[in-house]
Amino acid sequence: MTSSIILKSASELEIMEEANQIVAQTLCMLKEHVAPGVTTLQLDQLAEKYARKNNATPAFKGYRGFPGSLCVSINDQVVHGIPSRKVILQEGDILSIDFGVKYKGYYGDAAITVPVGSIDHQAEDLLKITRESLYKAIEQVKVGNRISDISQAVQDYVEERGYSVVRQFVGHGIGQHLHEPPEIPNYRRAGRSPKLLAGMVIAIEPMVNSGSHEVKILGDGWTVVTNDKSLSAHFEHSVAVTENGPLILSHGL
Ligand code: MG
Repeated sequence: MTSSIILKSASELEIMEEANQIVAQTLCMLKEHVAPGVTTLQLDQLAEKYARKNNATPAFKGYRGFPGSLCVSINDQVVHGIPSRKVILQEGDILSIDFGVKYKGYYGDAAITVPVGSIDHQAEDLLKITRESLYKAIEQVKVGNRISDISQAVQDYVEERGYSVVRQFVGHGIGQHLHEPPEIPNYRRAGRSPKLLAGMVIAIEPMVNSGSHEVKILGDGWTVVTNDKSLSAHFEHSVAVTENGPLILSHGL
């Protein structure tokens, strides 16, 4: 992480929109391939191929030693699941797919959670509420608001519906680095948070559990799971703050 918030120019935002559109298109393509019997490694290979064909580099591969292009997290896995030929999708699973690319020196980052075949009503509701909480957060992206307005919007929306927000992992600024300041928590922290300024670009990523908010990291050093084995969902958009309100760079998901 660099130490201060970096504002982006209009021409930088254009490149970042292109980067994020490669991410969004990759995720849309993957959605079509998610089905019982498919392995998470197959999805990973499809994503890498698609990104490279579009002159982008998968951003997560090799990041602090992460082995995959995608983070693929099933059911009680929250984030950072490692793609594997041993992980075979099954009817009724929910799968979070997080993808990032580097393109012309700038990063794009977005995530969706999708059903594998048909899923039960509870899982369906978790996906819906998590996705909606992201859009509630994006409504708060306006000049003069603070990061805490985003955090509060997610937390209120999620907790009023009986779910919990993960605290240990948060959203982030994004630009020429995958992770830049400021942090974008999905819960209200004590103290004053930074004001939103035109030119800031932030990755907002609610991680929502159907049980307790507590999580732990598995022995592989990456996979984050819920402590109580409850289901977890994750949606993410990279969003620019503009004088005219939020500009969702990863639109189209
Ligand atoms: Mg992110």
